[in-house]
Amino acid sequence: MQDQISSRIIKFSESLFESINIGIMVLDRSITVQLWNRFMEINSGIKPAEIVGKNLFDLFPKLPSDWVRRKVKNVFLLKNRSYSSWKERPFLFKFKHNRQITGAGEYMFQDVTFIPLRDNAGEVEAVCVTISDVTDVGIYQNALKDANDVIVYLKELSHTDGLTGVFNRLHLEERLEDEFKRAMRYKKDLAYLMFDLDHFKKVNDDYGHLAGDTVLQEVAAKAKETLRSSDVFGRYGGEEFGVILPETEMDGAFRIAEKLCSVVGAEPVDYDKQKIGVTISIGVAQRHTGMSGYKALIDKADAALYRSKENGRNQVTKG
Ligand code: GH3
Ligand code: MG
Ligand code: MG
Repeated sequence: MQDQISSRIIKFSESLFESINIGIMVLDRSITVQLWNRFMEINSGIKPAEIVGKNLFDLFPKLPSDWVRRKVKNVFLLKNRSYSSWKERPFLFKFKHNRQITGAGEYMFQDVTFIPLRDNAGEVEAVCVTISDVTDVGIYQNALKDANDVIVYLKELSHTDGLTGVFNRLHLEERLEDEFKRAMRYKKDLAYLMFDLDHFKKVNDDYGHLAGDTVLQEVAAKAKETLRSSDVFGRYGGEEFGVILPETEMDGAFRIAEKLCSVVGAEPVDYDKQKIGVTISIGVAQRHTGMSGYKALIDKADAALYRSKENGRNQVTKG
């Protein structure tokens, strides 16, 4: 009875070995091919008669021989199976795939398993290597990654001001709300400053709208350079900008504002061989415990900015 079962298993195994949609080859310790199934034959164009009894690398000189040798050696040594995903090594054999998808790459993605084959005494006598075609998984996951990259890019874009490249109002308000809550929870300082270009309407009137755009870009660049990396700087709208200064008390914020004023006003902007003088007015506000939310901080900075304007512009006012 036992013999009958065994002979049936052998019969079915043979048929399975040839029809299964997985590459199977058996290697001995010296990487001589012992078995080579139909999947391997179809994809490589090499028949079993041409390769069995030969060293694998004689027929595939471009295989990563050091890697294969190491894998096989370890299976003999450790008597455990070993696995390699297409993510680490996209393919072992350069087999073409037949998918009609552009951008999928030319070659079949492969998962490779090295399985110890034991003799009756339990010693490893050969290694069975299986090659699974995971091209569809690879295509799907790569497409997913591409889509994710696009989402990250679009998110970045939706938080960036198109003209100056600094953050936009959406980002500024979202971050200010976060920072306000954090400062409240941990009882930390938080300052916000708002600045507005002086007599900017006159720049547009005298030099044209494109000159005005260049001035906005230059002022944004100078301010960004002056600020610290922990400060969050953005264009609030029109010719108005906001700066979030986490963990900064009033005196520190005032000093930063004065520096911004002097850096922007120090040199005129070059535009089409003309020099356009520009200054800014700033309002500084500090979070205090009586404030209900981040909007109160913006209002306070705005009111201080208004006073800088009233008092003659090109100056900083504490709110
Ligand atoms: P003040 O010193 O009181 O701030 O005077 P101002 O002239 O700067 O103020 P006002 O609010 O009257 O003018 C702001 C001008 O900014 C009007 C608007 O055309 C201009 N502006 C807003 N956004 C842009 C932009 O993106 N590009 C250009 N070139 N101009 C802009
Ligand atoms: Mg203005
Ligand atoms: Mg304005």
